[in-house]
Amino acid sequence: MATTSEFDLDAAHRLLSDHVSDLVAVFDTRGILRSLNRSGRRMLRIDANADLPALRIADLVATSDQDRVDDIVRSVHAGTPWSGPLTMRATATGDFPTRSTLCTIPGPEGDAIGWVAKDTTTDRDVIKSLRERAFYDPLTGLSHRSLFLDRLDLLLRRVDEETTPVCVLFVTPDRFKEKVSHFEQGASSLLLKAIAKRIPEHLDGGQSLHRWGDEDFVVLCETIADDAAAAEVAARIAEAFVEPFRIARREVYLTVSTGVAVGSPGEMTTDELIRHADAAAQLARSVPGGAIRMFDAELRARAVRRAELEDALHGAGERGELVLFYQPEVQLRTNQIVACEALLRWRHPTWGVVSPGEFIPVAESSNLIIDIGTWVLHEALTQCAKWEAQFPERPPLTVAVNISARQFAMDDFEQRIADVLDETGCRPSSICLEITEGVLLDDAEETISKLNDLKELGVQLAIDDFGTGYSSLSYLRRFPVDILKVDQAFVSGLGHDPEDSAIVQAVVHMGQALQMTTLAEGVETAHHVIELRELDCDIAQGFHFARPLPVEAFTAMLAAGDDWLDQSMG
Ligand code: C2E
Ligand code: MG
Ligand code: MG
Repeated sequence: MATTSEFDLDAAHRLLSDHVSDLVAVFDTRGILRSLNRSGRRMLRIDANADLPALRIADLVATSDQDRVDDIVRSVHAGTPWSGPLTMRATATGDFPTRSTLCTIPGPEGDAIGWVAKDTTTDRDVIKSLRERAFYDPLTGLSHRSLFLDRLDLLLRRVDEETTPVCVLFVTPDRFKEKVSHFEQGASSLLLKAIAKRIPEHLDGGQSLHRWGDEDFVVLCETIADDAAAAEVAARIAEAFVEPFRIARREVYLTVSTGVAVGSPGEMTTDELIRHADAAAQLARSVPGGAIRMFDAELRARAVRRAELEDALHGAGERGELVLFYQPEVQLRTNQIVACEALLRWRHPTWGVVSPGEFIPVAESSNLIIDIGTWVLHEALTQCAKWEAQFPERPPLTVAVNISARQFAMDDFEQRIADVLDETGCRPSSICLEITEGVLLDDAEETISKLNDLKELGVQLAIDDFGTGYSSLSYLRRFPVDILKVDQAFVSGLGHDPEDSAIVQAVVHMGQALQMTTLAEGVETAHHVIELRELDCDIAQGFHFARPLPVEAFTAMLAAGDDWLDQSMG
């Protein structure tokens, strides 16, 4: 055939092979490299115009894969093309991974061998970086909780004889959000980075730091002698916080709260050990100014009680065990009941009444609070609508409902409130949602927009336990809040603790300046009432007027009209 004169197939192949990104090489019948395309020359750093060196297949395979070369070549010569991962050797650039195919090319003098190789370095890099992103925190470079949990799991599953205990420490800088809120944006990242660098300087071998989430870190001690040794590790971590951190040319002093738990392989699961360390950490965090708390017998008893409560709390609403009590809020100028706070009670069939102080935190840590909170809203708003119908003559009564952080954080929280208002027919202005300062601190901008949406619905908003959190004054100005509820801790000192009086006075002034109503909680004595009137506080709530009452008793109080005070004081 005369086709070759019109069209040179060899040249066409060479041209094509010069345009692919893979290495294409041909070795002659003696196994010597005879042809190499442009990509191959680039990969092996052989100059485009230089003569090909007399290399064999084995010369181009990395040491790590040398022992496979003979088998591969033999199988190819036997007529079976070979495909698979193969690491190639390049003297100038170092070894690189490939996916290779080798096959025979029959010729008049015997079989030559063709080798096509795709450099997979980039694929590997991508996979590596994906893996790293999944397992490592890009900000601090520490491993994420998943890698830490894997490691802990492995340690707790050891079954050899020398199974020494393992220790987990939950480490949280105190008041982190509040501290960084005084700095410009990005300060929290810088501070987290600095902490992630500082703590390991105070750890020994076999002890590692990981990022748990937000500003929470976790230290894993792969072996620990006993509780005392674990406490020592915690003390060394605390030492890491003695020197201030320098951020944006300023110094930040931090203290740290650490919860410590020790467990032995075979005796404890990863879940249990984490829960123990977390329980200890929660307690450590509840003490101001940095504390170390070990998981001990007392905490073990609490954990058992908590688990019992959680179990029993499931379905408590459906079984009719939850009830709302109502406590009046009294306008000090007129002595009128202007509002009431709905306070949840749990009547357990055998334990009797469980206080919200005990079960609300359990509900909050287990998501049960969402269902319970929805139930409370329904119940309180239904009752509010009933009172409105029952006492049409009376100035409208506001019903205050406590909202937990988790409820407030729900994406559709505003919608849920709108729905309950619709379903119960309650007037929006008759409802006051009580939110604690802690909730407001979380993400101020998002919070402000959420609060504004709620205000659009027409409901009132209150900051509960005001003074115990760390509201930044600059933010307070921007929160569309109607009422500041002064925490009872300050009210109890009125009259004998000048500092408390000064605080209440300051809150009242602040409220007046920001056009917010001030309400004092925990008003227990006539003396408190006198002081509060003098300080110009608007509303008071407390045992002095009435304890939280069952709905019938509270309704009777409303029915008594102006005589309610005589009735309540007996
Ligand atoms: P809170 O919202 O600050 O409620 C005020 C607490 O102070 C109530 O405790 C109330 O009974 C108590 N109290 C009222 N007057 C006085 C007084 O004169 N002296 C003293 N010492 N205490 C007084 P309670 O009912 O045990 O509730 C405790 C906390 O549980 C509430 O604090 C609130 O944070 C939470 N809570 C109660 N009901 C609910 C609810 O339905 N949902 C949510 N998320 N939390 C609730
Ligand atoms: Mg409240
Ligand atoms: Mg309160």
